[in-house]
Amino acid sequence: MDLGNIVNELVAAMQAQEDRGTVASYIPELAKIDPGQFGIAIATADGRMLAGGDADTGFSIQSVSKVFALTLALGKVGDQLWERVGREPSGNPFNSITQLEHEQGIPRNPFINAGAIVVADVNLGGHQPRVAIGEMLRFVHYLSGDDSIAIDEAVAASETATGFRNLALANYMRAFGNVRHDVDLVLGNYIHQCAMEMSCRQLALAGRYLMLDGRHPDGGRVVSPRRARRINALMLTCGHYDASGDFAFRVGIPGKSGVGGGILAIVPGRASIAVWSPGLNANGNSCLGTLALEELARRTGWSVFSPLEEGD
Ligand code: GLN
Repeated sequence: MDLGNIVNELVAAMQAQEDRGTVASYIPELAKIDPGQFGIAIATADGRMLAGGDADTGFSIQSVSKVFALTLALGKVGDQLWERVGREPSGNPFNSITQLEHEQGIPRNPFINAGAIVVADVNLGGHQPRVAIGEMLRFVHYLSGDDSIAIDEAVAASETATGFRNLALANYMRAFGNVRHDVDLVLGNYIHQCAMEMSCRQLALAGRYLMLDGRHPDGGRVVSPRRARRINALMLTCGHYDASGDFAFRVGIPGKSGVGGGILAIVPGRASIAVWSPGLNANGNSCLGTLALEELARRTGWSVFSPLEEGD
């Protein structure tokens, strides 16, 4: 299998696509992004990097950050986290409020907004948001081996000015006692974490610990093998909101999307993949990003549902 060739052909196919979805506009700063872009980067378990298209252009990782935030929160409170956040797919949009009332302020999973806000509350740990954000940046620098990754302050300011839904979610959970810090501080942490700007190359590098059973490529341990498997399981079942089932069906590997148009996808033991194209489908997931991963999985045979690597 010539992975470099597959990447080049995928890039050409995606660049020729006309239906690219719609760029997110509820965060005004994201609405300015040119939808004509597509990037892909694949970090393989044997240490190669294959990249193509706009793989070095920075984009707002948004909800992809929830994977790194969850990893940090589990490191702080371990399995106690599951007393405050569930592990079931929600079947609802990422910013849904209705389910929270029925479930007494316990969000379905850590990847919908409500769940990620609880995770941001845990990560705040009594500090100011800048302390928690500093910790997050250091973590992502370590994972990717790239200290240049930073927050896009314009995106953070834009979401701070318009994020009324997340404010409602946070206040609602505070009423149930499931958000413990001042909601402005929690959202400050959450919004800045979402506003991290990364390229596909940086994101694929940052995800390597999840393909390596929790190990950093430098040999250090980021999380235990069991925790890495569980994070991958959550990505597969909850990483694309109410389209998670469809993503598992079409692509067949764990993935986490963000409204900036990025997706981090993990093939355990094989590859950490980042794709990016800003146009979204109706569920808020990257249109071409999903299509590219579907095609990549088809051509490589990569799937968590098959022991064989046979493209078809
Ligand atoms: N910061 C975004 C929000 O809270 C993240 C959503 C997403 O990427 N799906 O709305």
